[in-house]
This record gives sequence, C-alpha cells and structure tokens, in this order.
Amino acid sequence: QLKVTIEQYQPRTTGDGNEHWQRTDFPWNSKIDEMRTEIFKIDSFRPWQLETVNVTLAGHDCILIMPTGGGKSLCYQLPAVISDGITIVVSPLLSLVEDQMYALRKLNIDARSLNTSTPRNEQTEILQILDGRNSSVSTLKILYLTPEKISKNKSIMAKLQKLYETNRFSRLIIDEVHCVSQFGHDFRPDYKYLSIFKRQFPKVSILGLTATATLKVIDDIRNILKIPRCVLFRAPFNRKNLFYEVYHKSSVGKNTLKDLVNCIQNQFDKQSGINLKQRYFNKPILFYSILKTKGIVYCLSQKDVEDVCFELQQNNIKAGCYHAGLSATARTQIHEKWLQSKVHVICATIAFGMGIDKPDVRFVIHHSISKSIENFYQESGRAGRDDQQSHCILFFRFTDVFRLAPMAFADKSGNGLQNLYSMISYCLNESQCRRKLISKYFDEVWQSNDCNQMCDICKRSSTSITQRNCREEALIIIDCLNENKKERLTAIKLIEKLSIKTMAKLDLQRLILQLIVEQYLKEDFHFTSYATTCYLKPGPRAEYVKNEKCQILLDIVENAKRPTLTTNRKGAKQAANKKLSTTTTTVTEDRPKLQMVTNTEPVA
Ligand code: ADP
Ligand code: MG
Ligand code: ZN
Repeated sequence: QLKVTIEQYQPRTTGDGNEHWQRTDFPWNSKIDEMRTEIFKIDSFRPWQLETVNVTLAGHDCILIMPTGGGKSLCYQLPAVISDGITIVVSPLLSLVEDQMYALRKLNIDARSLNTSTPRNEQTEILQILDGRNSSVSTLKILYLTPEKISKNKSIMAKLQKLYETNRFSRLIIDEVHCVSQFGHDFRPDYKYLSIFKRQFPKVSILGLTATATLKVIDDIRNILKIPRCVLFRAPFNRKNLFYEVYHKSSVGKNTLKDLVNCIQNQFDKQSGINLKQRYFNKPILFYSILKTKGIVYCLSQKDVEDVCFELQQNNIKAGCYHAGLSATARTQIHEKWLQSKVHVICATIAFGMGIDKPDVRFVIHHSISKSIENFYQESGRAGRDDQQSHCILFFRFTDVFRLAPMAFADKSGNGLQNLYSMISYCLNESQCRRKLISKYFDEVWQSNDCNQMCDICKRSSTSITQRNCREEALIIIDCLNENKKERLTAIKLIEKLSIKTMAKLDLQRLILQLIVEQYLKEDFHFTSYATTCYLKPGPRAEYVKNEKCQILLDIVENAKRPTLTTNRKGAKQAANKKLSTTTTTVTEDRPKLQMVTNTEPVA
C-alpha cells in the first residue's frame, strides 16, 4: 500500500524510476535473500528496504526517509554483512547504538562501537583493526562512531584514511542524517564535520537515514554532504490510523489537569467498566485499575511532568514519570514497567521516546505544544505503531506560546521561532484538515480524501466555522502597542489594555498569535539573569494593516461545537453573548489565505 517515490535527484544512467531498484536480479540479490532469512530471520522486506539495499550495493549515494520503527537499520546491516570490509555508522545517541549492537551480537554479527565510554583496551584493538594490523583475523563488519568522536579526534580520520587506502572502507552510514542541517529540528554542530567525507573518500558511498526531513532539509543535507545526485526514497507522511485533534487548554492549571484526566478516562476507557461502576456506586472504585490503554503525555517541563503524573495517579491511572531530572536507575525502572505494561501512561518530557518504542500506544497527548511541526509529528507518531487506530491530542493555549518562544529564539539553529510559528499555525487553524497541514509542511502532495475523517476538522461540520476579517481589531492592537512604546507590553498586559468588545477573549488571543505568525507583530526578547521576558511590538508588516485591502483572516468556531471540556463551558457563554460585528463568511472547501507560515511570502 505504501509507494516508493524516487525524486529527480536520481542519476539518469542508473535506470528509469522505481522499478529499476525493485529488481531482484542484481548479482547480490540471492545472497541478500539468504542472509535475510538465515541470519536476520526476516521473511520478507518491508517497503523501501529492497530498493535501498540495491541502491547502496550498486554504489550510489542514497537518502532514505522512513518513519521510526520502519526498519531502516536492516538497509545497511544486510549490505554490511555481505560486503568485504567495514561499514562505518555515524549515530548520535549511545542508547540507540547500544540497542543495535545488542541485537547484532545476538545474530553473531561482529559490531563494535567507538565512543567516549569504550574501554581503553577495546579502543586500542579497534584502532589496530582500522589500521590494518589485525585485519586478516578480524571479523569486524560494522563500526559505530559518534559524530563527536570524528570531529574531535584527529587520529580517527587518519585511521579511516588507512581503511580507505587499503580498500576496506565499505560504506558510510549516517543515522539521523537530518542532524546535519540547521534547518532541521535537531541540528548537531558535530555532524557538519561529515561534509569532508565525500572529498576525502570519494569512492565510499553514503547512505543517510532519517525519520523526518522536509525538502528544504534534504536539499541542505545533499549540499553539505556533497551528494547532489543521491537517490532519495521517501515514505508518505500520512499515518492513516492516527486521529489528530487540538483541544483548547484552560488558562487555569488545575482545570487543565482535570480536562486531561477526563479526556483519558472518557475517551480511552469506555469499555473498562468505570462508567458502569460510577453509576452504581456513585464514585470510582479505588482498587480498580481503570485504564488498560497505553499512552504518553508529553509535557514541557519536569515540574509539569510531576504535576500531571500525580493527578493521573490520584485518579487511579497507573502513571509514571520520565524526565532528565531522574536518576538513571529510576528511568530504567519506569522504562521497564512501561514495557511490561505495569505502567499505562508515561508522563514525560521529550527526553522519552528515542529508540524505546512500543507498538500499542493508543494515545499521545501533548500537554503543551511542541517546538516545531517536525517535533510534533515525531512525538505524536509514537502512537499506533501497530497500525491500530490511535489518538494524537494537543492541548493548546495562548500563554504556552510565550513560555516556548524564548527557548525557540535561543535555538542555535536560528530557525527556532519560525519552527514554533508553524506549530502555532497548526493550532490556530480551524478550517483545514490537520494532516493536510502536516503533509504540506513536509512538501507532500495532498489528495483530499487522504484523511478519511481522521482529524477533528474533517470530522465536524464546516458550518460551525466562520472566517472573519480582523483588520479593524489588528489596527487597534497595533495602535495600542505604538501608544505604549515606553512601557513595553507583554502579550498578557496588551490584552488587559485592549478594550475590544467585538471578540471573545479566546479569539482575541488567537488573533494576536496569528498577527505574530504573519509578522504584523513581533516578539521582543529581553534577557535578565533570572528569566527572559517577551514583549510585543509592531512587526515588519504592521504598516500594511492601514491598507484597506489588507485582510487578516481568522477562523472562528461557534464555541458550542468545541470539544466539551470543563473550560469550554465558560467559553460557550461568552460566545452566546458576543455578536460578530464585522464581515463574516461561511467557510467553503479550500481557503488558500490561511496557510502554514512556511508558505507565507517573504517580507521585503
Ligand atoms: P528504524 O531505524 O527505522 O526506526 P529499526 O531498524 O530499528 O527501525 O527496526 C525496527 C524493528 O523492525 C526492528 O525490531 C527490526 O528487527 C524490525 N524489522 C526491520 N525490517 C523488518 C522486516 N522486513 N520484517 C520484519 N521486521 C523487520
Ligand atoms: Mg533507527
Ligand atoms: Zn482531516
């Protein structure tokens, strides 16, 4: 059902499209099949695996983009065992490397790792093998290196040079290859050093692996690694079994926690019997573990993690914490309990997730927004690995944006704010299919029936949404900022100062965010030794608002139709009181005005 797409970067001489790489009559195919079944005990290839193996064994550079858990490792491990020489794998995380080495050793494949924690005598041994001194007796097939080891240790490069000169440098694998690009969501400066490999070792083919990368990132990777003609395999981003939704998050922390518990209990625990018991005994039965469904709640801070976990436990949900502030033992313990299903819901910072996937995660809830669409896609994508229907719920509120913005601003890539704004656009949107926005972000072609009512937007009736031109309100907001230049206003102070009667407070907050995303407003960061304050000022497009043709279109939802959570009842009242004064238009099919921030035209 999944289709391979080969993009234009493929060299003409190597065939015409996918079919070429799907062939099984290359000289190596029978050997590959034999190893696959006999050593790896794998019955058949998954989509893209055969193609990638063929490309890399044919000696071409390749980038493979495939969701986590899709089976990228096999694509280099199989070629490594049937090739002479040593395959070098660059991987950023020791925990991932250890997982891989453990699996390979069980298969009797000689894989080693050279990093800061490798024992001295083993380091010496590995370096001697690279040198060629023990090469005749060595069975080493795969060597894992951390990027730091390569960039900070000149002798490693000399050893690799030796390996190359003696024709034993089989190929270079770069895991998590998006770390090369500073446009990606996880730029690592040490990865930049890999750019010298192609010049230094021109005959060694490169295989880059990643779970997420936009076309812009891929372009960047190709330039940095100097592999302009690499073959690119790219999996579709549409995860059909995931239901995406955005919930309004209360401004009161306690209410948010209540909403979260309600959401988990009502939505994921209907069959467990709690509702029935509640009806008969009028209270939950304490010794009865109500939730069997497994899920993850991602939080922004360690304190949020602790608070959420405590609240869930108070409500008889078997929850556990996972964050970097815990001891290694505590983390291992919770990890094990989770794998054994003794803990059902993990409350975690984003430290939890890499390489520790469980197939039957039924929901991923974001207690706060992610710092980018790429992060969100990857984090929420940990749900439903078993292809069963699963939910990705994001709790969104105004003030969280200003908690994240200073971090985004300080991001070393320089693109932190832009990435955050894409995430905000995703949340402000009330009219376009959620997965359409995600797939547009990843530059994928979108077919309108690809969602199949698997997001909150597609599922509800379009008549509950209106789109409103908020130019008048934007003028008032910008005027207010200009009048209070001296005082400097944070977003919250700004709202206090404003007297806009034509809009519910919630929509006014949303408008301000939209104005920031569309650069009518700009954030102004002030750093002290204690904290970062984020003030608002008119942005580069502020002047344009004076133009009568300027349209600032905001999606407005009839509040009665928002998901019924405690905090929305208040909102419903507000909505009943308010009259929409300026022009409103009913939403029709597709409205190009509201686009992801990545698609807005650059400002002069
Ligand atoms: P990725 O690196 O893409 O996240 P991995 O390479 O770690 O994924 O593979 C995830 C799991 O899938 C591993 O347990 C691996 O053994 C398994 N796997 C890989 N390819 C196949 C296949 N063709 N059939 C069955 N299982 C596979
Ligand atoms: Mg992997
Ligand atoms: Zn949809």
